[in-house]
Amino acid sequence: MLKSIAVLTSGGDSPGMNAATRAVVRTAIYEGVRVFGINNGYQGMIQDDIHELNSRSVSDIIQRGGTFLGTARSEEFKTEAGRQKALENLRKHGIEGLVIIGGDGSLTGGALLSKMGNIPIVGLPGTIDNDVWGTDYTIGADTAVNTILDAINKLRDTASSHRRIIVIEVMGRTSGWLAMMAGIAGGAEYVLVPEAKFNLDEICKDLKSSYKDGRRYSIVVVAEGAGSGIEIGKIIGEKTGIDTRVSVLGHIQRGGSPSVEDRLKASILGERAALAVISGISNVVFGFNAGKVVSIDLFDSVNNTKTLDPELVRLARVLA
Ligand code: ADP
Repeated sequence: MLKSIAVLTSGGDSPGMNAATRAVVRTAIYEGVRVFGINNGYQGMIQDDIHELNSRSVSDIIQRGGTFLGTARSEEFKTEAGRQKALENLRKHGIEGLVIIGGDGSLTGGALLSKMGNIPIVGLPGTIDNDVWGTDYTIGADTAVNTILDAINKLRDTASSHRRIIVIEVMGRTSGWLAMMAGIAGGAEYVLVPEAKFNLDEICKDLKSSYKDGRRYSIVVVAEGAGSGIEIGKIIGEKTGIDTRVSVLGHIQRGGSPSVEDRLKASILGERAALAVISGISNVVFGFNAGKVVSIDLFDSVNNTKTLDPELVRLARVLA
C-alpha cells in the first residue's frame, strides 16, 4: 500500500473535475494515505506547485464547475527533460502514486510519464468532448450537453417567432459527440459532425423546399470540426434566401454547475482511482461502460481513437 499520492487536473477543464478531485482526496484520507494537490496540471508538476491537502481543502467544491486545482497546457511536459523535472518534484515530496484527471492529451502525457518513472499512474477521463477510448462516459460531457440543449431551446423560441434558420456551432474539433447528442435531444433538423459527410447544397435545397411547404424554423447544429458555423450560416443564408442567424456557443459550454450524472459518476470514479493507485495498480483509466465502472488499459486508451456511433448519425437523420 502506498503512503502518499497526488492528484492533478489537466487540459481543458470540465464540470465534475472538482467532484472527482474531492473523491480522490477524501478516499485517500479515509484510507489513511497522505494526498497532495498539484496546481495547474503538468505545468505545476514541473514548477513544484504541489501542496498537501486535507478533507477541508475540498469542501464546498462539488457543486462548482471548472477545477479548483487549476489546469494548464504545458509544452515543457511534452519534452523528456520536462517530464524528468516533474518526476523529481514528485519524489521530493515523497509522492508514490498519481491520479491524472484530463482528456486524451493529458492521459497521453500520463502514459509517457509512466514509461519514465517507477510510479503508479491512474487516469480519469475528464473532458466535455466524450472522446476518450474505452469508456462511454467522460466527466463533464453530460453537463456540457445540457448547457447546449438549454441554448438550443432558447434559440428555438426566437427562430420560430421569426421563421429563421438558426445555425449553432458547438465544441468538438475532432469529435461530434456533443453536437450529435444535443442535436438529437434538441430536435435539430441537421447535425453536422466531422465524422460524417454532408452535402451543404442538398441541405440548402431541402431547407428551401421545407420553408415553402410551411416550415416555421430550422435548427442546424454544427460541431466546430465539421466547419465554421459562421461560414456555413453564410452559405445557407445566401443559397436559401431565408433569414439565417448563427450562434457560436464558445466557452459557455465548459462552465456551469455539474449535473447529477457528472457529480455522481465523478465521485464514483474518483474513489475507484484513489483505491487503485493506493494499492499500487498502474496504467489504468477508470470509466463507465453500459452503466458499470470499467478499468481500461492506459496505453490502449491513448493509442485508440473513439468513434461516434453511426447509429446516432442515422437516428439524427431519421428524426429530422
Ligand atoms: P486534453 O487533456 O483536454 O486532451 P491537451 O491535449 O491540451 O488537453 O493536453 C493537456 C496537456 O497534456 C498538454 O498541455 C501537455 O502538457 C500534455 N500532453 C498532451 N499530449 C501530450 C503528448 N503527446 N506528450 C506529452 N504530453 C502531452
